Amino acid sequence: MAIALACTSTTSGFVSSRIGLTFDSTSRFAPSSLNMVADDAKVCVVTGASRGLGRAIALDLGKHGCKVVVNYAASEGPALEVVEEIKKLGGDAIAIKANCADPDSIAEMFNEAMDKYGTVDVLVNNAGITKDTLVARMKRDQWQDVIDINLSGVFYCTQQFFKIASKKRTGRIINISSVVGQIGNPGQANYAAAKGGVLGLTMSNAKEFASRNVKVNVICPGFIASDMTAELPAEYLEKVCETIPLKRLGKPEEVAGMCSFLALDPACEYITGHAFNVDGGIAMGA
Ligand code: NAP
Repeated sequence: MAIALACTSTTSGFVSSRIGLTFDSTSRFAPSSLNMVADDAKVCVVTGASRGLGRAIALDLGKHGCKVVVNYAASEGPALEVVEEIKKLGGDAIAIKANCADPDSIAEMFNEAMDKYGTVDVLVNNAGITKDTLVARMKRDQWQDVIDINLSGVFYCTQQFFKIASKKRTGRIINISSVVGQIGNPGQANYAAAKGGVLGLTMSNAKEFASRNVKVNVICPGFIASDMTAELPAEYLEKVCETIPLKRLGKPEEVAGMCSFLALDPACEYITGHAFNVDGGIAMGA
């Protein structure tokens, strides 16, 4: 019997409230006192999900009925708010504090996620920082901190995720890089190196993990309105907007839409090792 519900379990196991609205009543279904989340809903770890792009990505996955691990480094209050919002949207979530630059902390996060949900299906490597300055002035820690969180953090999370996914012979990784990793930016040598590294890591992992049916893709956002871009001077952002073919900053929700597609859509069963730009056209150049 098909019942209309906010949550769909497709034959490939992906859960979507947007793509179809029928629910097969024979699927396992676990009603809770607050909401109804399918037992086989995809479990998604989103790093840096307390704010900005990660928050929008976590909410969008929640809207699709997923169980979301909302990772954060310091912002416990905002992370818990994201958890509550996901539950209201029809998903389930927990917040886990873990430092992406610390492999032990990341291993603990995955253990906690496994204890809570029993598996992990999707990893979104989103956590990132900037410490911008010109190369001539860049201190060693400004270089290293950005590499540690933005690049090594992706590696540590990927290693933990692949332990789980390789046994199941299924899984999807979505890395969040940047147009800066593709075209560079003065004052961001550390960030460009880390984000360029994420592009290479994505392709290597896509090739290495293909035999285990684990897909790895990367999103390259352009300039997106968030706390990160709010740090930039207004005149600089105005000049940047003039160089963007679509003449505006992107919205976190626009990156989130691409991320949910790569994480959940059945079409992505045959897509791996690719970069998808959500950048208003800026990476095309003049
Ligand atoms: P944001 O608003 O500054 O948020 C950063 C997120 O990362 C926060 O949730 C933060 O957690 C988390 N985080 C920072 N250090 C962490 C650590 N060591 N371990 C775990 N989590 C950590 O940044 P955003 O603009 O949303 O950027 C998100 C991602 O998109 C980054 O990888 C960034 O490079 C990339 N990106 C952004 C833009 C843009 O224009 N905004 C463009 C291209 C790419 P706390 O809240 O706990 O600190």
